[in-house]
Amino acid sequence: MSSPDLAPAPITPRRTRLVRVPDLARLQQAIALTSIGASPFQARRTAVVVPSEGAADVLRHTLEDLCLVARWVPADADCAALGAHDWPVRAGDAPLAIALPHLVTRAGLYRLFGESLGALPRIDPIAREVLAGAVAREVAAIGPAPPFPLRPALVAAMLELYDALHRNRRTVDDFERLVGAALESGASFDRGAARLLEETRFLAATFRAYDVALAAAGLVDEHGLRSRLLALEAAAAPLTSVVVAVPDLAAAGEGLWPADYDLLTRLAGLESLTVVATEALLGTGYLTRLLDTLPDVEVVAFAGDQPPAPVLATAAGDQAVLVSRDREDEVDAFARRVRAAAPPAPAEGAIALVHQRPLPYLYLARQVLGAYGVSWQAVDALPLAAEPWAAAVDVVLTFAASDASRAAGMALLSTPLLQFDGPGGDGNPDADAVAAADRELADALFVGGRDRLIDLAARWREEIDRGKGRSRRHRALVAVSALLRAAEALAPLAEGRPASAQLETLAAVLAGAERPPAAGAARERHLRARGAIRGLLQRAREAYLRFGDPPIAIDELAPLLRRLMEAQTFSPRVGPGLVHVVDASAAAFGRYADVTLAGLIEGEWPTASGRNVFLPSNLLKDLGWPNDADRRAAARATFDDLLQLPRRSLALSAFTLEDDAIVRPSAYLEDLDALRLATAPVRAGSGAPFALAVAPVAIDHAMHDAGPARWPLAAAPAGPPDVGPRAAIAYAVTALDRYRSCPFKYFARDVLGLEEDVVEETGLSARARGTLVHAVFQAFFDAWTAAGRTAIDAPALPEARALFAAVVERQLQAIPPSERPIERAVLLGSAVAAGLGERAFRFEAAQPQALVARELEVKLDGEYTLGPDARRIRLRGTADRIDLLADGTLRLIDYKTGKASNARDLLQVKIYAACAETHLHGHLGRTWTAAEAGYLAFGRGDDLFAAVLTPETRAEVLAEAGAGAVAVADAVEAGTFPVAPDDLFTCNFCGFAAVCRKDYVGDE
Ligand code: SF4
Repeated sequence: MSSPDLAPAPITPRRTRLVRVPDLARLQQAIALTSIGASPFQARRTAVVVPSEGAADVLRHTLEDLCLVARWVPADADCAALGAHDWPVRAGDAPLAIALPHLVTRAGLYRLFGESLGALPRIDPIAREVLAGAVAREVAAIGPAPPFPLRPALVAAMLELYDALHRNRRTVDDFERLVGAALESGASFDRGAARLLEETRFLAATFRAYDVALAAAGLVDEHGLRSRLLALEAAAAPLTSVVVAVPDLAAAGEGLWPADYDLLTRLAGLESLTVVATEALLGTGYLTRLLDTLPDVEVVAFAGDQPPAPVLATAAGDQAVLVSRDREDEVDAFARRVRAAAPPAPAEGAIALVHQRPLPYLYLARQVLGAYGVSWQAVDALPLAAEPWAAAVDVVLTFAASDASRAAGMALLSTPLLQFDGPGGDGNPDADAVAAADRELADALFVGGRDRLIDLAARWREEIDRGKGRSRRHRALVAVSALLRAAEALAPLAEGRPASAQLETLAAVLAGAERPPAAGAARERHLRARGAIRGLLQRAREAYLRFGDPPIAIDELAPLLRRLMEAQTFSPRVGPGLVHVVDASAAAFGRYADVTLAGLIEGEWPTASGRNVFLPSNLLKDLGWPNDADRRAAARATFDDLLQLPRRSLALSAFTLEDDAIVRPSAYLEDLDALRLATAPVRAGSGAPFALAVAPVAIDHAMHDAGPARWPLAAAPAGPPDVGPRAAIAYAVTALDRYRSCPFKYFARDVLGLEEDVVEETGLSARARGTLVHAVFQAFFDAWTAAGRTAIDAPALPEARALFAAVVERQLQAIPPSERPIERAVLLGSAVAAGLGERAFRFEAAQPQALVARELEVKLDGEYTLGPDARRIRLRGTADRIDLLADGTLRLIDYKTGKASNARDLLQVKIYAACAETHLHGHLGRTWTAAEAGYLAFGRGDDLFAAVLTPETRAEVLAEAGAGAVAVADAVEAGTFPVAPDDLFTCNFCGFAAVCRKDYVGDE
């Protein structure tokens, strides 16, 4: 094509009307009268243009409800004003069915028009993107070169710019001339202007090359279609009437462009064009623009039937806005209001939860409304990318593009829709094995790399074959083996092969690994998503084969596939139900008794407008781009219209937290003065029985359940303070400290068995370094003792240093080569600081006491007597090191790689000391009394040894620690796990923040 076609078109006499309506209810009435009011035959030759597929769905319900349920009989004057001479409902005579018009989006309207041209070869959108990419690469190769790398997302943005130019009725020449003229004068001294000029020339060259390539392929796009339509000499369109219920592009992203109005006013055979809009929207500048665009438009003021005004539900203190903690609580509060209210009469309409973005509301609706037994339906078109199967494909892409990264690998193994079977039929590992693999790989500092994964797995296998290796490693190996199978299957994708071959491989891997849900709605939905993604891969493959098949690796191809999945919409088909979960633009077409406008926060009401990635707005202005002020004014008018939408009650709902960050309320809420509604305090039913983030399971099962953990939400946000009495168990001593640091953390980790979130770190994590340091000291003292040595005094220092250095070298083999130099310096020292070994040996050499024996990794596992009432309590733990001294005392040492400044508050070493006295009673034929206990702390700025117990404080410390341990055991057995961190700082490093519902009050 594709210059905007200004060829003279035959003029069909047509009626062009603007119908002004006071509110959304009357907008719906006006649409009904203009689309189905003339005759069933005429209705089928009418299209109503709405903003989205969801809006089309909602409007279909509304038209049916108006005629068949509410049996609305309009006033004769209204019928006459809008030419509805054959409205299907009459007093006492309602039809059994009605003929509906075509309810379409802008793209749907073009589809309908396109059908009238018969076998016009329209280019598939995916093929179009592939063609544009190929053309852009060719242009870049011969010049002018682009000043940016040609990534798939930029190719898509280039096409958007190309489309926008043509829809604004501008040519590529206009673009180059207007933008070029603005930039040329500054380009000689302003590098930014020079770059933009380069970019403009490249874009113009690419647009022209695209036109040539498209024509050479014998295909047309939307712009070519418009040209053909305008060239028609006789009525060929299936439509004689179009009702436009979207504003123009200046007011809304999904609105009509100048080229669309041009088509609608010139298309042969179109006899009637009706624009309907509310007064609020028209008042934002839309009316002026319409009168400019359609100078001969006939303006009709539609009176219609005034709907009843809703009552505003208010919170305590007559607050107009209902504020929840987060979106989950917001949906929970909504569900309780629904349960508390009487169901609306059918003629009043349904109940709507109106949002600005479908996710996470659709997910929350499934969980929360399901938990309350509220029937609901989604009236939305989600991106295909939001489907579980698309998410699984995304995980595969990430894993393949990241060279088997640990994070992506764990996500891959946790996806129930995928399974990478072994030759022996070994399937996917269970959740426990995946968690074990995550831990073991994190401890092994595995971040990613297929080769390293192969090495690690071989080493673990060998270790296990030798009867070594902890049980967690056995479990981990099951998961790692599955990961290796996946990595092997996906390995070809990492190479630069033709795109079509890559897509074929990806499709084959997905087909082989796919495990669809067994039955039910989930299976049906999966199969639909699978079909859509297969089709998408196939279309992309065919496009590459047709328009050039460049060698491409998965890291370049994956962004394109993600974009395609994001761009394709998919209707989840939930429902029918009493509650409609619907986006704001679709809700405007609905007939609702109760409406909750949800998520009224900054950034959503209004939504932030997107920017053109290539050119600043001042340069785009001359090309007809809309400005932000018009969009903002129109968005506010839409919000004001929605406030009047319900026929019974309105609720305005906001929340304060999103992803643990505080969010600000929408600016709209600061300005509700014009809202003159009667108010009534909100009525809400009782709380939900279960947590909102997850489905419920019985608490007692949770400890043994390898699947995702669940917890009852008896009293959010304070967590579950009381889950009922629990039997006494053998307590890990470290878990007692966990409880003291935050009881909910204990609950998550030790009751539910959740794994802490592992933070991906580049170097050695604190945890991995701790593991290494423990392993080094254990191996050193094992070797030292095996060599017949006991204490490390001053004369023994050289020998200890040499042995330590040898041990360090051996232990360093367990960590990645890239991390070894730094860890070697930490352990052995450098020119600027002594190593950990040296510091520990000097500490020991400075001790005057003679050493009788050194016990390492002492397992303290048994029943001990603790506390003022001498309670028997089962404990387990491992003391790093116990030195038995000649005077019958013991010195208990725990290694700590960080600082020990807060360690004095911990129970751990004190309880170990108490248990060690019992445990070692009679060892070597004598009793042992704890005289010293503390942390050998290697963190900078600390004393090397942080003592928590000395001969003088022993009795008091042991008594206090015993009482503390008993208090924790009592609280655990009483089932008390409040969200109560000992210090809010704790939360910053907590691995359970994602499941915790801590109250943020005072946390700012
Ligand atoms: S985030 Fe804070 S309140 Fe929540 S479990 Fe962790 S420490 Fe406790």
